Amino acid sequence: MCVFCEIINGNIPSQCLYEDEYVYAFRDINPQAPVHFLVIPKQHIESAGKITAENSDLVAKCFEVIPKLAAEQGLSNGYRIISNCGPDAGQSVEHLHFHVLGGKSMGEKLV
Ligand code: AMP
Repeated sequence: MCVFCEIINGNIPSQCLYEDEYVYAFRDINPQAPVHFLVIPKQHIESAGKITAENSDLVAKCFEVIPKLAAEQGLSNGYRIISNCGPDAGQSVEHLHFHVLGGKSMGEKLV
């Protein structure tokens, strides 16, 4: 079972920020910004490359949670959402996740 499925199941500890029937959000163990959390669907979807008409509602649910959590975490000045997809993007956990980063100005832009 993948590491994020183990986190959802409670077999691996995490700093949970939000949970409902479909979505789980927790702090990244290796934060790249003052605020860095991950939002994931509870259903195992390998990556953004595996989003389909059948599961895209779960992606929408993740994105509904993000602004609420960002506000709770004090990211009123903005934040960045990243999803690495596949080896060239450096995806290291094969369970779809959205990084939410903020709490500082992220001046150097990729896009
Ligand atoms: P990516 O490289 O885009 O696949 O992102 C995976 C992220 O998961 C990295 O930022 C890791 O720091 C994070 N991560 C890996 N294992 C854990 C864990 N047990 N708890 C919290 N975050 C984790």
